[in-house]
Amino acid sequence: MYLSGIEDMNVIDNLASELQCTGCMACVNRCDYGALTEIVNHDGFITWEYNADRCVECEKCIGVCPITHPVKPHKIQKIYAAFNKEEAIQMKSSSGGIAYALGEAILKDGGMVAGVAWEKGFRGVSYQLAYNQEQLSGFCQSKYLQSYIKDIYQKVERQLEKRCPILFVGLPCQIAGLRAYLGKEYKLLYTVELVCRGNLSIKGFQKYISFRKAQGINEISAVSMRSKLRGGHAQITLEIDTKDGVQHIFYAEEDPYFVSMWRGYALNNSCYDCRFKGESRMGDLSLADAWGSEFLYTDVFDDKGISHVLVNSNKGNALMEKIAHRLWIRKTDINNVVCVSKSLLTSAKRPEHRKQFYHDLDQISYEEIIDKYLKPIPKRRLATVEDAFYYQKESEQGKLLCAYGIGETYFRLQKEKILKFDYYTSSFGEDQRANQIEPVYLPYKEVKHREDIFVYITVHDYHSAKSIHEQLYKDRIPHKLFCDATL
Ligand SMILES: Cc1cc2nc3c(=O)[nH]c(=O)nc-3n(C[C@H](O)[C@H](O)[C@H](O)COP(=O)(O)OP(=O)(O)OC[C@H]3O[C@@H](n4cnc5c(N)ncnc54)[C@H](O)[C@@H]3O)c2cc1C
Ligand code: SF4
Ligand code: SF4
Ligand code: SF4
Repeated sequence: MYLSGIEDMNVIDNLASELQCTGCMACVNRCDYGALTEIVNHDGFITWEYNADRCVECEKCIGVCPITHPVKPHKIQKIYAAFNKEEAIQMKSSSGGIAYALGEAILKDGGMVAGVAWEKGFRGVSYQLAYNQEQLSGFCQSKYLQSYIKDIYQKVERQLEKRCPILFVGLPCQIAGLRAYLGKEYKLLYTVELVCRGNLSIKGFQKYISFRKAQGINEISAVSMRSKLRGGHAQITLEIDTKDGVQHIFYAEEDPYFVSMWRGYALNNSCYDCRFKGESRMGDLSLADAWGSEFLYTDVFDDKGISHVLVNSNKGNALMEKIAHRLWIRKTDINNVVCVSKSLLTSAKRPEHRKQFYHDLDQISYEEIIDKYLKPIPKRRLATVEDAFYYQKESEQGKLLCAYGIGETYFRLQKEKILKFDYYTSSFGEDQRANQIEPVYLPYKEVKHREDIFVYITVHDYHSAKSIHEQLYKDRIPHKLFCDATL
């Protein structure tokens, strides 16, 4: 945050602190006097600038900050796995194309959709209001960088006051910002939050694009951060198209921009201690990638993308009923979500040298940044148990990255009818603690042969511990089980 003019500590002291501010811009949208403005800070994150000369101390901004004045959360009622039956929509969306189906339904009812689209020139993304399907298409796919909020909450409020139905799709902190800004429930407002690992630095993205341009990728005509053209849904792929018709494809594990997200450097301060994790949710619906669908929904899996949909309110339920005919849909449970989308419950870990990273971003070349911080992450997809051993040994991230491999390897073995294993786990290296099941890993040094596999599982509730133990015992998989639940 930046101050100019005379400081009025009473006003700004009551807004979220620098470390907690999510950049939701509820305060800025609420200020009628131009005393707060949306800016991008040194590290490339959205925050506010305060001009005391303009402030009349009305304190309206304070009441709408969802960090200092939390809004009432919803509780998860039920969970589905789903995808859009229209393949073209599914293919151009991040996961199952559910957000598009919801938007279409609201447009059909004469409403509008608030979502995030690219700005001209691909230097950033911003919230916009869609009135038709063409504009709605621009919202498809996750754009992994922080969005400018601009005056979207004011626009939404004006439409709601005119009794126009609104679907607002965004990150949980932004849905909280909208609801806090409005200050009352509107019957015609529907909110959809995306399960979220974090908001990424705009500056980090711009540096990355400059790096690609220096490699000769000029005249950009499209950027897709979840392209399914080559790798399908499971292989996260960044595609940059240029006006000469060339598609430049980068697989996420080797792409410095994605690595900056997974190693945590690119994330906003508020994301390391996010207030919007857990089973209490901000939106009427929550959408997540159904990672591991090849194991969870084998009968329909074709790698075109499946979403997990959390229904958190009656409005959310009504929305899902409205679009059910457009979807393949199946009831599922919370365990299937938390073991693949850990971001639902836990925040990413702050990297030790984050401050230095942002300092270096201005001082050294992007090639040097890659060398120092963003070396490729070892390949995620593993074919054999031996691969898993390798990753355990080679991975800078240690046991937890390997845990992903082991989970996946077990499923492969299960498919081959060699072993039966019921739990799937994924992790990109940070210590993400799910409520019930933590990553499964095996200690590299102790393992020489498949028969030597030890599965370490830490669980916090007795019943999960018992059932995992029984399953492993039945399948004769040697294991150690830690359960810290009180029996
Ligand atoms: C920054 C970010 C981080 C995410 N992290 C995770 C995660 O850790 N685990 C997980 O399971 N899922 C995560 N997701 C959600 C996931 O990628 C999909 O968005 C979700 O599965 C819905 O997919 P879909 O196919 O229905 O819709 P999609 O076609 O993906 O579209 C969903 C909506 O996302 C909105 N959107 C796109 N970019 C942004 C942005 N930068 N800010 C706000 N809204 C945006 C668009 O307006 C659109 O309406 C994340 C999404 C984002 C944007
Ligand atoms: S107190 Fe009122 S005038 Fe001052 S910044 Fe907050 S909303 Fe704006
Ligand atoms: S309202 Fe949002 S942008 Fe303003 S201080 Fe609070 S969290 Fe930050
Ligand atoms: S992790 Fe939390 S604070 Fe960060 S963008 Fe997501 S919801 Fe907002």
